[in-house]
Amino acid sequence: MTEFPLGARPSYRIGRVQARRIVEWNGQLFRRADAYGQLELNAWEAERDWLDPRFWNPKSDGVTLTIQSFLLETPSQVILVDTGIGNGKSRPAAPPFSNLETPFLDQLRATGITPDDVDIVVLTHLHSDHVGWNTTWVGDAWVPTFRHARYLIPRADYDFFNPAASDTEHVDADMGLVFTDSIDPILNAGQGEFWDDALNLATGIDLHRVPGHTPGSGVLTVRSDDHSAQFVGDLLSTPMMVNHPDLCAHYGEHYVDVNPGQIRAARRDLLTRAARRGTRLVPAHFNIDAGGYITHEPNGFHFVDTDA
Ligand SMILES: [Zn+2]
Repeated sequence: MTEFPLGARPSYRIGRVQARRIVEWNGQLFRRADAYGQLELNAWEAERDWLDPRFWNPKSDGVTLTIQSFLLETPSQVILVDTGIGNGKSRPAAPPFSNLETPFLDQLRATGITPDDVDIVVLTHLHSDHVGWNTTWVGDAWVPTFRHARYLIPRADYDFFNPAASDTEHVDADMGLVFTDSIDPILNAGQGEFWDDALNLATGIDLHRVPGHTPGSGVLTVRSDDHSAQFVGDLLSTPMMVNHPDLCAHYGEHYVDVNPGQIRAARRDLLTRAARRGTRLVPAHFNIDAGGYITHEPNGFHFVDTDA
């Protein structure tokens, strides 16, 4: 397969906020036919000139999944959005993520920011590929990687996925491990902060809950001067969801999203507003440096890739 870049990527500005992504992992975890079988191959072929090779490899039918963190430097704060897979985490249900050893922290440091500089960690949701670098194994324990940070935890996700809760039928197979190695140590260190429906982080920087992918999924909006961007987590997981807002991924028999109806409505709403307002959208898993813009035309929504 094509090799895509890892590590810290070029920065861009959202008004007075400097943003960049730090890519931890890139791969083709599933095939289009398996994950997005509800949409016919023709629909993908029709978009092939911009999907191939960065988002979809027509030869292997693999869909690119990029796992990354977003580093935001405001004039007064350092914010990290999502923390990837992490090193040395046991993930039996997701073998490609199990016991990784990547230079992610060195790649972060290469930007001039050290883990101790991070003021706020935003977790868009609590899936294993978004919370891994919350902690690092030191001595004989998982300890917070970002020692001075507040970690913002969506309460609805915490309640929904908590293996200690009574109803765990819906819980992903690795969730017990995720809590033990990446969530509980943050709470035990007193660095976790639950938020419910909305939270203001700083002037122009706000979190809003947009359930659908998970019950507590959040969107981080950054407004500075006349610019705006939204870090939308897994509300969009392939750019084909811009062209086809009803597209939802399957994992085996099940939808990846806990509530497909809810996420479809939320996605249309997001795309409509982003097109109207000229908001840059930065989805968690797109293999793209600076997000993209949305246009709304008679035949639907389109993604304007800022890297292209
Ligand atoms: Zn994800």
